[in-house]
Amino acid sequence: MNEIKKEVMHVGEMASGAALTVPVYRIKGRTDAPSVYIQANMHGAEVQGNAVIFQLLELLTNTKINGDITLVPYANPVGCNHKNGEYTLGRFDPITGVNWNRMYHFDESIIKPFVRECIGKTNPVIEANFKKLMIESIEEKLNHNIYGLTTGQRIAYQLQRLAHQADYVLDLHTGPISSKHLYCPEYAQESAQYFDIPHTLLIPNDFDGALDEATFCPWWSLQDAFAELGIEFSISSASINKESFTVELGSQEQIDLDVALEDAKSIMNYLQHKNVITTTGYLPKTMTRYGCYLKNYKAFYSPMGGMVDYLAEFGQPLAAGEPLARILRMDNYGDGDPLHYISLDKKVIPILHFASASVNQGTELYKVFSEYFEF
Ligand SMILES: [Zn+2]
Repeated sequence: MNEIKKEVMHVGEMASGAALTVPVYRIKGRTDAPSVYIQANMHGAEVQGNAVIFQLLELLTNTKINGDITLVPYANPVGCNHKNGEYTLGRFDPITGVNWNRMYHFDESIIKPFVRECIGKTNPVIEANFKKLMIESIEEKLNHNIYGLTTGQRIAYQLQRLAHQADYVLDLHTGPISSKHLYCPEYAQESAQYFDIPHTLLIPNDFDGALDEATFCPWWSLQDAFAELGIEFSISSASINKESFTVELGSQEQIDLDVALEDAKSIMNYLQHKNVITTTGYLPKTMTRYGCYLKNYKAFYSPMGGMVDYLAEFGQPLAAGEPLARILRMDNYGDGDPLHYISLDKKVIPILHFASASVNQGTELYKVFSEYFEF
């Protein structure tokens, strides 16, 4: 039985003085073994990751642990409790309107001066120093920022401080109504097949404020800066290996503990592959895996307002001209056209759609893989 330690991390205060807290579960491993950081529910309605963390803890209790494992459910206590009527909101900070998953930090300008200091040092020393630099940069932002931080930054930076300590980072999200899909840095494509997730988005080295980017972009930029000098510093080698993923577990506002167990096993399989744990019990499922570069992940905006009957099945290639959805316009009944079929003139794979059946003209109706490939 592994000992699971629980800490309560204070991430802010409400107007009444009530503390905003986040539970942090840790299983201690060896310092020389690869480690992982997993969080869930940064977006309020995306709750299934909490159930996956529950199932992971259950599975990990009796698993041989090699490296440190840190698990953070309810990562955003504001978003998590942001209810309106029957629904959970919690995708955007209600005060600033900023997406909660666009508030992490990476300052590209730390790379070049760091690289200059590294000449002649060994790769393990560079790795340790860079990790220290990233943790110090985030602590600087947290503790020595004279003009203060927004509520969201304070939450994000404290989570990021934990994430920077790990080699692998998994940020558990869901779509609105969605199939499972994975955001994977382009260089880590090989690792995507260890997850039981049929759709992988390959993302470039562009920082846009999300946790996965905030943890892999610094390492990727470091690798590139060394490469410019003709020095090999690979972050996908056996000795230095850094990967971060956003794992989209399906639809929002849903807890399914049986599906969560399947997803936890898929994560166990990845952790086993990465030697964070030692077990022989997990194998990736056989499935057709589709990849798509982020630039080809297209949002389709509704050409009209109306009531939507979503038709296209997730995850299956949809031929050109086949309907994505039909839109009902009862205001046109009798003297116009009450039904409109919506289709695309190219083959796509529908990945997710808007959560409501009533849409305005211009609402993001579907997101689809275009120019996809099997791997
Ligand atoms: Zn999300």
